[in-house]
Amino acid sequence: MALIVQKYGGTSMGSPDRIRSVAKRVARWKAQGHQLVVVVSAMSGETNRLIALAKDVSPQPDARELDVMISTGEQVTIALLAMAIRDLGLKAKSYTGGQVKVLTDNTFTKARILEIDDANIRRDLDDDAVIVVAGFQGVDADGNITTLGRGGSDTSAVALAAALTADECQIYTDVDGVYTTDPRIVPEARKLDRITFEEMLEMASLGSKVLQIRSVEFAGKYKVKLRVLSSFEEEGQETSGTLITLEEDMNMEQPIIAGIAFNRDEAKLTVLGVPDRPGIAYQILGPVADANIDVDMIIQNVGHDGTTDFSFTVNRSEFARAKKMLEDQIKPHVGARAVEGDNKICKVSAVGVGMRSHPGVASKMFRILAEEGINIQMISTSEIKISVVVDEKYLELAVRVLHKAFELDQPA
Ligand code: ADP
Ligand code: ASP
Ligand code: MG
Repeated sequence: MALIVQKYGGTSMGSPDRIRSVAKRVARWKAQGHQLVVVVSAMSGETNRLIALAKDVSPQPDARELDVMISTGEQVTIALLAMAIRDLGLKAKSYTGGQVKVLTDNTFTKARILEIDDANIRRDLDDDAVIVVAGFQGVDADGNITTLGRGGSDTSAVALAAALTADECQIYTDVDGVYTTDPRIVPEARKLDRITFEEMLEMASLGSKVLQIRSVEFAGKYKVKLRVLSSFEEEGQETSGTLITLEEDMNMEQPIIAGIAFNRDEAKLTVLGVPDRPGIAYQILGPVADANIDVDMIIQNVGHDGTTDFSFTVNRSEFARAKKMLEDQIKPHVGARAVEGDNKICKVSAVGVGMRSHPGVASKMFRILAEEGINIQMISTSEIKISVVVDEKYLELAVRVLHKAFELDQPA
């Protein structure tokens, strides 16, 4: 008998039929003698609908109130799934994040999980019930409802698996595993049977939203056995999805590149004519960080005549706020000449642990993009990834040509 945490995403919970089908899958696992904790997302589109509604009423909604509201999508689906499981003759009980007690910090809309109280869940598991837990939500030390950022149900599931020392965490979604790139953009993308934690961490942080990055971090930290699978496969036809593994587990030779990730949610800001003196980066980025705006790539150009240009990227949703801050506060403060912004950019990245031992990946990537006439605006690299910022209109072309050039469409 194993303790298994399963997570079903929005599409998997998207209609009454889909919910009944999830209930049947849960019942099959239960019939094999396993204990099951099931984490669910809101029905697909629901979180978007709630956010749009909030913004319709209040253009910049208060973050605490937004969390009270957008957490309701998951409160609906836990109850529906528990009902459907009970209709199959099993015991089932739903829990909100607060009822479990998924304790988080108080950073509304992007809270971090601090601790999970497993007492109630263990008691009900001992009573042979299937536990259905609302993903994406928690509660802070003062009892306020919090949410974990978009895609956060993945993190709820892995954190619960870690807290319960579950035997496996299964993420059921609308694709049958992790692919070499998003199969919606490149139909030739191939499913990977395995991917290393390091690579998955990079892919997730660089925009592959099949797993929320924090879920991968949790899995790595607490050694949770994590698998991505399809909730759409028929009984008896199921495949084993993609296993996220520790590199040491793999004795096969690594491909140089595991996958291509991309992110459209990017925007670039440039402060022009900044005095080139110590402390400038801090004077620009310090206030940006204090305003809770995450900065990604940073470039400072070589100075000329005592001044330099300073560029960085932020999430597109923070573009307007960051630009205003630069113009109103930072430009006059540091004595810069001008501020420019571009929110029609994207980031495309190649990821692979094999890069460590194979030089020349970057130059190949730059050559492929050059051959297509795609101008690279920014570059950043780490040991196992190379990212470039390009005009958004080239996103699909760039992903396709890189996928092909690195032969990711060919069987490994
Ligand atoms: P869920 O609602 O189940 O959480 P998501 O939409 O968050 O599902 O994540 C699944 C989607 O992630 C897929 O439909 C796919 O379009 C996208 N995706 C992006 N990159 C990848 C990748 N490398 N492998 C598989 N899916 C990917
Ligand atoms: N419902 C939330 C979202 O759409 C959380 C999730 O699905 O993981 O972002
Ligand atoms: Mg998701």
